[in-house]
Amino acid sequence: MNWQEEDLKYIWHPCSQMKDYETLPPIVIEHGEGINLYDINGKCYKDVISSWWCNLLGHCNPRINSAVKKQIDELEHVIFANFSHKPAITLCRELSKVLPEGLCKFNFADNGSASVEMALKMSFQYHLQTGKPKKKRFMALADAYHGETLGALAVGGVDLYSEMYKPLMMDVIRIEGPDCYRCPWGKCRDNCNCECFVRAEEMFEEKADETAAIIVEPLLQGSAGMKVYPPLYLKKLRELCDKYNVHLIADEIATGYGRTGKMWAFDHAGVSPDLMCLSKGLTGGYMPMALVVTTQKIYDAFYDDYLKGKAFMHSHTYSGNPLACSAGIEVLNILREEKIIEKAVEKAKYFNKIIKEKFLPLENTGEVRSIGLINAIELVKNKETKEPLDYTKRTGYQIYKKALEKGVILRPLGDVIYFNPPLIIEKEDMDFVTDVALECTKDVLS
Ligand SMILES: *Cc1c(COP(=O)(O)O)cnc(C)c1O
Repeated sequence: MNWQEEDLKYIWHPCSQMKDYETLPPIVIEHGEGINLYDINGKCYKDVISSWWCNLLGHCNPRINSAVKKQIDELEHVIFANFSHKPAITLCRELSKVLPEGLCKFNFADNGSASVEMALKMSFQYHLQTGKPKKKRFMALADAYHGETLGALAVGGVDLYSEMYKPLMMDVIRIEGPDCYRCPWGKCRDNCNCECFVRAEEMFEEKADETAAIIVEPLLQGSAGMKVYPPLYLKKLRELCDKYNVHLIADEIATGYGRTGKMWAFDHAGVSPDLMCLSKGLTGGYMPMALVVTTQKIYDAFYDDYLKGKAFMHSHTYSGNPLACSAGIEVLNILREEKIIEKAVEKAKYFNKIIKEKFLPLENTGEVRSIGLINAIELVKNKETKEPLDYTKRTGYQIYKKALEKGVILRPLGDVIYFNPPLIIEKEDMDFVTDVALECTKDVLS
């Protein structure tokens, strides 16, 4: 069987121009272990993008494997309205111990985008049911990414994904957010006062009356090119939201679970959002599951006699799937018992150091930015002016292809090369993947 031909006969891959597969056919993976993936010919690939940022503790993690195996012989799934099960209850109880203060009510979805939709609907309905029917719009930051379904896409601001579908989408209030590498105030993210926050203040002043919530990717705008901004921005946003009775929705789908060096990106700011979306790391990258977590106050606005019509009438068939919950519980056990995040913080220092050493000397490295184990290298045409590379050259894509040949999965965002490895990555692998990335980058740029 030629598996690659068979694949192309049937499968339409996500986020791909399928014509590109003529020159780069799909890599058919057979098994995984730790950060390694092995294809059907036995070739090894280092998964330093955590398979789209979800694999947290390595592929085929023995502890998660056995937790899921145990669960599958007990209960695979059950309707989650009126019914419940120990894995879901346990997962929520354990999560409530580590979430930012005040987040205590858990509603399940089955993917990140769906949880974003839920959070938006909940916020809108909350205001409707607390006497603020005019609050029916949403604010979001420029370059935001919140998923692909129409509501989530509408709050997103990456044109590559959303431009074409504008006619189908709700009208979102867009705020120019932090852009630290090209800061219009000429400041630097380590010691600024978030001068750019004035744009949020102006927009709130003008539009808060009609706004239900603002949604943000805390500290890290992933799809925008791993743009990192300071925690102070979130602190200020919390105050502003309180002042204007606007909900703060934290999309921690990519940043949660230790990716930024703390359990949640919001932990860096020491404040809590009103609603929080979780997915990706939630099951360690094993199964599609997501959560919207919110406060008692929001929950209470939906709590009344049935005929008042205040319930949140939203459901997903696979809400609270027990297999996914069993993986989720084991992820929390591993993080706690094996001190994974503490160790990742140590590893991150080394990773960032070698990436800076290797990439900063390159003529085309505009910036190396990092948060937790996530490191990004923005390639530019001109260091001084920060002028981007000519995007039609697809430099990032060329680097991606070269690195694949050498067994490293990079998948750059445009011309931003990044690493977002499973938290369990070891030094030798950090050395290897950064060497390969450097070699391929030099190759392509020369
Ligand atoms: C991945 C992601 C989503 C969407 O999650 P899906 O499960 O892919 O629908 C939303 N927001 C952020 C920040 C993400 O990284």
